[in-house]
Amino acid sequence: METQKKDIRALTKEQLRDFFVSQGDKAFRGNQVYEWLWQKSAHSFEAMTNISKETRQMLEENFVINHIRVDQMQRSSDGTIKNAVRLHDGLVVESVLIPTETRTTACVSSQVGCSLDCRFCATARLKRMRNLNPDEIYDQVVAIDNESRLYFDRPLSNIVFMGMGEPLMNYNNVLQAIEKITSPEGLGMSPKRITLSTSGVPKMIRKMADEEVKFKLAVSLHSAIDEVRTSIMPFNSTFPLKDLREALEYWYSKTKNRITYEYVVWQGINDTQEAVDALVKFCKFAPSKVNLIEYNPIDDGEFQQASESAIKMYQDTLERNGITVTVRRSRGKDIDAACGQLANKS
Ligand code: SAH
Repeated sequence: METQKKDIRALTKEQLRDFFVSQGDKAFRGNQVYEWLWQKSAHSFEAMTNISKETRQMLEENFVINHIRVDQMQRSSDGTIKNAVRLHDGLVVESVLIPTETRTTACVSSQVGCSLDCRFCATARLKRMRNLNPDEIYDQVVAIDNESRLYFDRPLSNIVFMGMGEPLMNYNNVLQAIEKITSPEGLGMSPKRITLSTSGVPKMIRKMADEEVKFKLAVSLHSAIDEVRTSIMPFNSTFPLKDLREALEYWYSKTKNRITYEYVVWQGINDTQEAVDALVKFCKFAPSKVNLIEYNPIDDGEFQQASESAIKMYQDTLERNGITVTVRRSRGKDIDAACGQLANKS
């Protein structure tokens, strides 16, 4: 029966090698199949032409190859592409391709929906939630790499985990996906071109530091004052800023990697000098960069982008304090593909 077959891509290379040995075959066969599954993204056992027919048949009887399907692709007037990605169980996530003059960035999802409850984010309103498997994360990247080659004549250059979900709430699977993305048997991308964005789960930031991961870290801060942050990101009451900051200090002491903060300035919420001063104080312990992200309205106008002068105040104060700051314009807004807009709308 279909349902009893195991997902072959849930096996590590070692497990696959062991499986072939247990079948009286050579361990090396495991490497061959592994390469078909990951580097060549084979969708069927039949496609594995250097594997004997009997072996392919045997694999067919024991396993399935689950694959994502890009159900719908929307293109924005600025070149941004949004994929609605259907998973093997029918659930849908979104991923985005963001082109610039020199690079193509894939923004991928790590969960269906999100377990956090940021009040300004459309994804937080989705009910259904499950973690994505490593292969489901990997496949989103492959799909965008293919689109980049097709539409922009170049391979994918960067990956950000800024789609749906909180990557540190699905840590093991995200890490396994990154391993495949960076390994020569997968896409062979440099980890330096990958950024994991988190709302800040202190325990997991420490874990990443201990494991000396090589990718970059971005933290969605939005406020460095507990009271304010809790009012817009309620989980902050469980992981208060003091714990986050200590974890980041630990991360920096281990990795010596600059930390990027994502930050939206909203009218009447964090557009004051006091808010900027708190931010400066929060970041001071390590080389930092603050990305001031444009707010993408998600509905009723409860949140409003702050004025130009407030953004300028942030920029000036941060720069004066030696903190790198960039003002990021939204991409893909017309197709609901911008930060915080991913909600499976269509
Ligand atoms: N859970 C992770 C990654 C997903 S969100 C995280 O929180 O980092 C990606 C980024 O978009 C985060 O910085 C998030 O705070 C921001 N974001 C969410 N909703 C937004 C909105 N409506 N407008 C602009 N940025 C938003």
